[in-house]
Amino acid sequence: MKSNSSILIVAVAAAFLSLPAGTIAKEPEHADATPKVSPTEALARLKAGNQHFVESKLQHPRQTAERRTELATSQHPFAVVLSCADSRTSPEVVFDQGLGDVFVVRVAGNVLNDETVGSIEYAVEHLGAQLIVVLGHERCGAIKAARETIAAKTEAPGHIQSLVKAISPAVEATTGADAEVTAKANELHVAKELRESAPILKEMVEKGTISVVAAHYDLDTGAVEFLKDAPAK
Ligand SMILES: [Zn+2]
Repeated sequence: MKSNSSILIVAVAAAFLSLPAGTIAKEPEHADATPKVSPTEALARLKAGNQHFVESKLQHPRQTAERRTELATSQHPFAVVLSCADSRTSPEVVFDQGLGDVFVVRVAGNVLNDETVGSIEYAVEHLGAQLIVVLGHERCGAIKAARETIAAKTEAPGHIQSLVKAISPAVEATTGADAEVTAKANELHVAKELRESAPILKEMVEKGTISVVAAHYDLDTGAVEFLKDAPAK
């Protein structure tokens, strides 16, 4: 955002140089861009942070007043995490990250809707994150509810049915398997849907500028397992 005085100075300079004001006033698209973190480096950071968590050696990095000040007017998160809303799976905690590190989108069952996809698109397209992690977890209540509701051929109360509907492809693909298999199928399904989400994410995946991975959090050990689901892009 330019102040009135800086706009005036630019306009005067443009007039002096006989250039259209817009020529000078236009800023580069990412004037304050910091170097982007590659998907490989971003994944390594998350794995290292999760290792701290598993070993009870949390570093609580970048949570100081200085960091808050540094981020007051801009942010460059190095990864996006779409996680379940479950109170036991907070991404900043399980990956031992600080302020401004991870752009977190949370919804029960880590499912997609226009708002979650739009949030993810904003984080990669506008903020420059290049890794998207779909983080589901062990003993997920949304997965359990979806399995039970579909098995009973009924509907969940209120808006919970919208979660059942979103999780149903994974439930139907894993009939007879246990709930953890369904949870992983859902994580993989959501990651695939994101890779194929036109126009923004699909195009970036095809260009190789972003990567989408599915992951499963173990409530007992604290470990995040990154699922192998597709050729690395
Ligand atoms: Zn859950």
